[in-house]
Amino acid sequence: MPLLISGSIISPIDKLHYKSLPNAFVYVADDGLIKAIHQLTPTDAPMTEEAFLRKVDHRGELEKLHLAKGEFLIPGLIDTHTHAPQFPNLGAGQEYELLQWLDNVVFPMEANFKDVDFATKAYNRIVERVIDAGTTTCCYYGSLHRDATKELAKIAHKFGQRAFVGKCNMDRKSPPYYIERTEESVPHTKELIKCIRELSPSKDGSPYVYPILTPRFAISTTDKLLEELRDFADSDPTLAIQTHISENPAEVAEVKELFDYLSKPGNPITYAGVYDHFHLLRGNTILAHAVHLEEKELKLIKEREAGISHCPTSNFNLTSGMAKVGDMLDRGIKVGLGTDVGGGFAPSILRTIQDASIAAKVVALTSPIKSPDPDSFASKPLKIATLFWLATLGGAQVCNLEHKIGSLEVGKSFDAIVVDIRNTHRHSHHQEVSPLNPNIWGVGDDLELGLDIRRRNDGEDVDDEEKLKQELDAMLERLMFCGDDRNLRRVYVQGRWIGGTEHRRRD
Ligand SMILES: [Zn+2]
Repeated sequence: MPLLISGSIISPIDKLHYKSLPNAFVYVADDGLIKAIHQLTPTDAPMTEEAFLRKVDHRGELEKLHLAKGEFLIPGLIDTHTHAPQFPNLGAGQEYELLQWLDNVVFPMEANFKDVDFATKAYNRIVERVIDAGTTTCCYYGSLHRDATKELAKIAHKFGQRAFVGKCNMDRKSPPYYIERTEESVPHTKELIKCIRELSPSKDGSPYVYPILTPRFAISTTDKLLEELRDFADSDPTLAIQTHISENPAEVAEVKELFDYLSKPGNPITYAGVYDHFHLLRGNTILAHAVHLEEKELKLIKEREAGISHCPTSNFNLTSGMAKVGDMLDRGIKVGLGTDVGGGFAPSILRTIQDASIAAKVVALTSPIKSPDPDSFASKPLKIATLFWLATLGGAQVCNLEHKIGSLEVGKSFDAIVVDIRNTHRHSHHQEVSPLNPNIWGVGDDLELGLDIRRRNDGEDVDDEEKLKQELDAMLERLMFCGDDRNLRRVYVQGRWIGGTEHRRRD
């Protein structure tokens, strides 16, 4: 049934701007699309709920949700890189770097997913928690197993999460108990893609779950397999691709050694050059990490319009390094955020936002500012608007779904989160609605103590509407730096309520 939400909305506009609407109506039609957004301003003639519903030509049943002060609506978060079969490994193997961590922690766990019954039970638990973390669109790597990865796709579909799901292609440099035969890799991939494309679409006819070609990384794929993947990718230009690139110096060195035969005199092969040679670098390719890219790789990635998944939690945790996100943004390269579980130890994009901020600050501390242009991003801390954009619209661009998701706009899908940062203290009467999160200072506490929510002391006199907007700005910043899943009351995809704290209590 259609949904009417009244309250505050925050939605990204571009890398430097977002809009805060303190008093708005949002109308979500039966097909899960946003049909109307109306902002109430003090200067307008006041629009009643009845008048708004008449304007959108509403008839029949309606579900209503009113947001209190301290609650607001944001677009769903987009995780452009994670590994579903590594969730049981969260918090394991934190002392390793990439290549040792793969051998000692990752491959033994992923091998368990050969057992489809095990995989089904695990993926039910995994997808549910990704949704509760506020991730409305998720790019999942499965294991190398066809049947287990089919289950992953079906489970994301069953829960109503928007997702890209791929099985890893990996036929070399992997342990004997966790490797596939070259001749099986592409046929199994094709079967999985067929299965995913047969899943029923959402109410507006678009898919919930998309297939994605997933060569694990250049090291784990033989030339023969890369050639087959090239031919297959060429035959299906709409098929998305995801892989890893330039995460760790030892990995980069190994790639260059393995593919040195592609070097030309005076032009040694690069990591990006390897993917490009096999036609895997294109507008719908998602490259995770991109920490140690060379100048000519950045140019090539921009030229091919491939997107980057920035995974700072993982990059710190596996001592990989800091991706130069600001520089990529200046070049117009598409960038979104990725949790990279289990290299990253948190399934929440909110945590990734915090680490993306720290990563940019470390880059700023260690490299000179490149451009005097105030709108340039390189070697500077990332602004709140930029971090918010990376987690939403930036991710949508990386997935080539920016026409559909990433911001709350008329005509887009209602993929959204009802955020609640009202309470913090034990005796709050709001406790039944939002569980205690001691990391966050609640707006309810400000109100009870008579504090200005904005925490500003610039002496500036603003009108009431501007004051409400500034309060929302402060709330967004608190959510991004101190919030977690306890502050996500409801999670919606395509207008369907699929997760959040209130959903958990309802079950
Ligand atoms: Zn990864």
